[in-house]
Amino acid sequence: MKVVKEDGQQEVECPSCGLSQATYKLRDVRLGEQVNKKVLVAVCNSCDKALSVPTQTTVKIKSDHDKTRYSIDIRLPAHYLDILTLASHRINPALAESFGKTLILYYLHALNTERYPSKNLANLLHSDFAKAKSSKRLSMKISRSSLDEMRSLMENQGFKSNTDLLKSIILKIHDDIVLKRIPKHLAELQNLAAVFA
Ligand SMILES: [Zn+2]
Repeated sequence: MKVVKEDGQQEVECPSCGLSQATYKLRDVRLGEQVNKKVLVAVCNSCDKALSVPTQTTVKIKSDHDKTRYSIDIRLPAHYLDILTLASHRINPALAESFGKTLILYYLHALNTERYPSKNLANLLHSDFAKAKSSKRLSMKISRSSLDEMRSLMENQGFKSNTDLLKSIILKIHDDIVLKRIPKHLAELQNLAAVFA
């Protein structure tokens, strides 16, 4: 992929001027509802119209668009939140409370790609330990790709609600990180945590 720069020159076919010289300039580009501020586009030197969008700008616009967040809001027993706190603390004692959500999303991805085994995930919900009053809330903002991964894992594992899926993931975190004397993926999780600590 060729990367262009501001004030770089390009020969273009302009609908008004015919074959002409264009300069890459930073312009606001509207795409449907979305206005993309100051992105590089090829602008005709004769008529000053924006004529084409280089690949790097297309990719940037797409990735800005993908930043849309989706709200997940579930109720769950209090000890599930404690599991997230204990697991985060186990990985890195300096970590803030919010790492629990990152850990859930990391597990979601790892289970979805079979990096971590996802077999019998739903069975975790049937243990006596899993059952208690749902007295607490867990709210998260997740990306489009995490939402897709939730849907895919729900379908593959036969979960009926995202509440059951997220509860199972937290119970898996309990088994893998809180209960184990030496968690199998500790080094990998500590690497991930280093970005957040
Ligand atoms: Zn022109």
